[in-house]
Amino acid sequence: MTFEFATAARIAFGPGAVRQAAAAVAALGVRAALLVTGRAVERAAPLRADLVAHGVAVTTFPVTGEPTIEDARAGARAVADAKAGAVIAFGGGSAVDAGKAIAALAANGGDPLDYLEVVGAGRPLAQPSLPFIAIPTTAGTGSEVTRNAVLAVPEARVKASLRSAFMLPRLAVVDPDLLAPLPREVIASSGLDALSQVIEPFVSARANPLTDALAREAIRRSPPALRAAHRAGLTGADDQTVGVRADLAFTSVCGGLCLANAGLGAVHGFAAPAGGMLGAAHGALCAAFLAPVMSANLGALRARAPEHPALARFHELAALLTGAPLAEVTAEDGIAAVADLCRALEIPGLGRQGLDAAEIGPLVAKAKVASSMRGNPVTLTDRELIEIVERAL
Ligand SMILES: [Zn+2]
Repeated sequence: MTFEFATAARIAFGPGAVRQAAAAVAALGVRAALLVTGRAVERAAPLRADLVAHGVAVTTFPVTGEPTIEDARAGARAVADAKAGAVIAFGGGSAVDAGKAIAALAANGGDPLDYLEVVGAGRPLAQPSLPFIAIPTTAGTGSEVTRNAVLAVPEARVKASLRSAFMLPRLAVVDPDLLAPLPREVIASSGLDALSQVIEPFVSARANPLTDALAREAIRRSPPALRAAHRAGLTGADDQTVGVRADLAFTSVCGGLCLANAGLGAVHGFAAPAGGMLGAAHGALCAAFLAPVMSANLGALRARAPEHPALARFHELAALLTGAPLAEVTAEDGIAAVADLCRALEIPGLGRQGLDAAEIGPLVAKAKVASSMRGNPVTLTDRELIEIVERAL
């Protein structure tokens, strides 16, 4: 076997891990840091106090909504103004991606459009990012361990990635206790993003034994944890809730590790352009596409590549997702399990997320050329792609 595996330089995982973050930043020799947060700036107050107590001056930079190229520009200016030696992100995937982009731009100069894929010049970063510390407060994107940041370009209605090995975080602090206040619909949508980010790499053409091991473990843990979280919330201090929080955070980290090293597939091939067109939450879009894409891939593989190794993966997925022995399930059971989970978690269809039937054609055209589509185990026809969107409506 031959593979490469890249991730954050260090991952600190566990309840209370966030309390190590300030000491780790101070240990880098940093005296001033930009703290990128989501809307809920006050949630970062304890971290901010810890940093100050460790001699690190903090400039807070809140990002509302999914980050745009303008957020990256303003953040890089804030780094320069504060003479910050590090960027810390505390928040959901949007804050983490914004922080990662800001740390890259601050060290390299220029404009996001110089480096952005698809809509930009796609120039490679020449310099390592400023030291970047990611502290996720949701369990979804896994961005704390990946080398790309998704930025919206609102005037073009698209999202595109800044991508470089230089952008891997210096430290990922994954503290499951931070998930406690998440509202139900965020648990559902971010959790199904995480699940799709372990399922797609598991059937990807670029899967390797290390990503397989991570994906198997996460696919097994995620569905029961998501159901329990949706039922009872994540605020409890009982052992069961502590375990559910850990399983959700673990799935998210595994998703980041798997997608960064084995690629994704058609779910993300659709979710990226749909996010740019609709402005809907990434996780809810992934959730709506997941079962229809699995079904289309299974059908296409059986019809056109009956010896394809991904077919055995779809069978194994059914066992992992249902907890039943391999001999007692078929690949269809895995797809039914995902559809069932999305129903239980009250995931809205694409129509309710704002997609008009007239936009199916343009969406398919964009999805076909999305970078994630290259990881899909089989090339889907236009007819199959259209059917996926119709079933996800
Ligand atoms: Zn995703």
